[in-house]
Amino acid sequence: YSKNILDGDVITTENYQPNLDKHIIELKNVRKSYITGDLETPVLKGIDIILDKGDFIVILGPSGSGKTTFLNIISGLDKASEGDVFILGSNLTLLKDSHLTKFRRRNVGFIFQQYNLLTNLTAKENAEVGENLSSNKENAMSIEDIFTTIGMAEQMNKYPHQMSGGQQQRVSIARALAKNPNILFADEPTGALDEEMGRKVLEILVKVNREYKTTIVVVTHNPNIAKIANTVINIKNGLIDSLEHNDTPADPRTIDWS
Ligand code: ADP
Repeated sequence: YSKNILDGDVITTENYQPNLDKHIIELKNVRKSYITGDLETPVLKGIDIILDKGDFIVILGPSGSGKTTFLNIISGLDKASEGDVFILGSNLTLLKDSHLTKFRRRNVGFIFQQYNLLTNLTAKENAEVGENLSSNKENAMSIEDIFTTIGMAEQMNKYPHQMSGGQQQRVSIARALAKNPNILFADEPTGALDEEMGRKVLEILVKVNREYKTTIVVVTHNPNIAKIANTVINIKNGLIDSLEHNDTPADPRTIDWS
């Protein structure tokens, strides 16, 4: 059967019975190839995985292994070439492109290496952009509370050029949180930051995960950063090399950064 995901219902697949209390993302035999002219490059080569709600997940692997491709597919930024991608029980592969875009804008938070803030808006106004996109207003935190959480209550009226890189990245986290997302995806969120600012950003992500139970998925090539996760997906050559659970994740302040 299919219903309209944008009205809060799900589009799912017959005989698929997700455990929505426990699972947030499920991939079944997902493959992705990029096609340029006559050349087809297989990047993801058959991925099956279930990710648990509320986890802090790190996707780890060397450059070129397919991490960003994997993140783009589980977040609905890009479509799989084959297989099924379920988020919260909905099969994203069955959505039309325009519906996929709406689903993503409304339900999912993103943080990128480049913060992509609007330069003519203050920190608070940038966060409001996220708030306005959200379809999930129930139990949403106020922008003020979000800025307090990220330690930026005093900076709300500053413009991007008046803030450090680390502060701008924290504003991009505020913008993502203002959507009240079920999941927050971050692609190399500390990639453009020095150690001190990078640690602060990771501390905030850990805090958000603990306090709001937001599921967080971070892509990194740095094995030390992976120590803060309770689930680590090792990707190698387009396949999952291992999936590790860690019951005692490290504090971002204590990890070796280099
Ligand atoms: P990672 O994030 O681990 O560095 P990516 O997912 O970015 O890996 O890339 C995996 C492989 O897919 C690389 O060989 C890359 O060149 C290729 N690739 C990524 N995006 C595209 C694209 N849009 N078109 C063609 N090839 C791509």
